[in-house]
Amino acid sequence: MKPVIALVGRPNVGKSTLFNRLTRTRDALVADYPGLTRDRKYGDGRLGDYLYTVVDTGGIGENDDGIDAPMTEQSLLAVGEADLVLFLVDGRAGLTAADEQIAMELRKLPKPTYLVVNKTDGIDPDTAMADFYALGLSDVLPIAAAHGRGVRSMIEIILAAF
Ligand code: GDP
Ligand code: MG
Repeated sequence: MKPVIALVGRPNVGKSTLFNRLTRTRDALVADYPGLTRDRKYGDGRLGDYLYTVVDTGGIGENDDGIDAPMTEQSLLAVGEADLVLFLVDGRAGLTAADEQIAMELRKLPKPTYLVVNKTDGIDPDTAMADFYALGLSDVLPIAAAHGRGVRSMIEIILAAF
């Protein structure tokens, strides 16, 4: 079976951009404003010898009750059905309260989770990553989804066990 990879993170960190790159489709809508992808979206992909299924999740930042929730119901469902989780953060914006809340939610869920620091194009990846070690996730990987930097080595690292 192909491993299922869930992409989670607050809006605008680049989940749909990474989904597109991993699946080489334009199916996931990428926008300059958050919250466009409201449902889970599935795509199959292949990189080198690795075959996988990716699940993109939208973030509307609040649940159906209109109460702010760190993770949407869709994100929680995606994590539940995934073999591993990529928790994306924005390496330019730095650590936010929403990132901390999502990290807290993810810690309750027994899934292999990698912290992926996106948007490291044109900045020093080590500096960009430094902020995020406070989240307590030991596996931190820098990428630039829009340009593909780090994406292949990320896949090789996360799928090595599958
Ligand atoms: P989502 O809300 O998490 O799905 O984020 P999107 O994929 O829609 O991306 C949000 C914005 O970040 C868009 O304007 C993207 O072009 C931009 N973006 C995504 N990846 C990168 C990247 O690697 N570098 C830079 N500089 N911008 C990116
Ligand atoms: Mg999106």
